[in-house]
Amino acid sequence: MTDHRRPTPRPVIAVAGLGIESSTFSPARTEAPAFHPRRGADVLTRYPFLAPGEPLRSAADWRGALVGKALPGGTVTAAAFAELSGELIDRLRKLGPVDGLWFDIHGAMTVEGLDDAEAVLLACVRDVIGSDVLVSTSMDLHGNVSRELVHRSDLITCYRMAPHEDAMETKERAARNLVDLLRSGAPRPVKAWIPVPVLLAGEQTSTRMEPAKSVYAAVAEVEATEGVTDAAIWVGYAWADEPRNRAAVVVTGPSEPAVIAGAQRLARGFWAARREFAFVAPTGTLDECLDEALASAARPYFISDTGDNPTAGGAGDVTWGLEQVLARPEFKDPGGPTVLYASLPGPAAVDAAVEAGVGATVTVTAGAEVDDRHAGPLTLTGVVHAIRHGDRDAEVEVVLRVGSVHVILTRLRKPYHHEHDFTDLDLNPRGADVVIVKIGYLEPELFAMSADWKMALTPGGVDQDLPRLGHHRVRRPLFPFDADMPDPDLTARIVAPSDQPLTGPDE
Ligand SMILES: [Zn+2]
Repeated sequence: MTDHRRPTPRPVIAVAGLGIESSTFSPARTEAPAFHPRRGADVLTRYPFLAPGEPLRSAADWRGALVGKALPGGTVTAAAFAELSGELIDRLRKLGPVDGLWFDIHGAMTVEGLDDAEAVLLACVRDVIGSDVLVSTSMDLHGNVSRELVHRSDLITCYRMAPHEDAMETKERAARNLVDLLRSGAPRPVKAWIPVPVLLAGEQTSTRMEPAKSVYAAVAEVEATEGVTDAAIWVGYAWADEPRNRAAVVVTGPSEPAVIAGAQRLARGFWAARREFAFVAPTGTLDECLDEALASAARPYFISDTGDNPTAGGAGDVTWGLEQVLARPEFKDPGGPTVLYASLPGPAAVDAAVEAGVGATVTVTAGAEVDDRHAGPLTLTGVVHAIRHGDRDAEVEVVLRVGSVHVILTRLRKPYHHEHDFTDLDLNPRGADVVIVKIGYLEPELFAMSADWKMALTPGGVDQDLPRLGHHRVRRPLFPFDADMPDPDLTARIVAPSDQPLTGPDE
């Protein structure tokens, strides 16, 4: 079928999407308000490159439908997805005919009772805008790319850096490539898709380190090839259990031989490096990490309590790690090594500590309201060291000193990524012996402050020890679950455009 397109000097482009990274291994649930949806013209204010006066803004008639972005969390409820996608579709319909759509998603959204949520959403979008409108999809590299999602997109790409310093640059590229395609009147791009049967944690795939650094360096080289428009490698999302969860490569462009060659180069590079992906810091059990911290002269010694990391999708209120820390005899005496622990949500405990006031001794119970699978609510007796009101995430924070451990309790879950998160609470992380944070790889300020660092492989919704989580629905064989699996078929699959039927096997 020949694709007759005409140049569109100033195309009408809709902007829509829902973004979240949600763990199916956490009992937490995500509701609609967590997405902080923006609507209509307000959608455009998310993107600096679409500010009035920017070249890309004037190159098209941009029309916001609805874009919602949530912090990582638990599975999205069916009701929240119905509400948000319903409004998104309604708003798109009211925009009238469009030439293109920029689909701004994360790609790791899980919804109760639904597989491949973003592809389902895009199918609903296609029902409104039509199968011939050009769609450019931009994603996080921790998103998942099913064949259906590629089928319904004309261009599809993702970040090339983890941590995601190029997030806005990626969105801009996706928007600009769509504008260029519409203005040129060129045919729909050819799409080469290759699923790579590897599922790795984000903490093993930082592009600051090898082998991800070299694997991702090839993306720009492939993109620079004649006949290629865009190239991308997805690591995929490890903490959800759907058939789509695995790594993938897509290369798009006008030349079929060029996109095939580029995709195969990237897929082979990723597969060949699979055994070299290592954690960004030494790992151990929490007890091993504590033993090493106590024996070490390095101060402050940081330990990541990784299994319940709230910025990866953990509930944040798992008590297992703190229970282990408080059970250690070394920390029973107030004169023992100074330990800072961030953090544990416990609204009732925080209220009780606030009422008692700084300096008072209180006995409170906190945690395990959402995730109680590994340990129950924890009862602590300690001295109120600090109280702080007005935090955007936590609302109220309290520090309770239990023996030589300073425990940060919060009304709501909060990530602790900055030095001031501690100093605001009258804590001095630089002067502490051990600082334990619910986090994966250390954020830059904490990393710079740490004299040494280990990642504790603790239980929780984002357990880094993937095989013990119990994935049942991912496609097998899959590395590292099937560590000695044979080499997979890494030849490129050309995926049909949205106005033609999908044919062949979905793998
Ligand atoms: Zn990510």
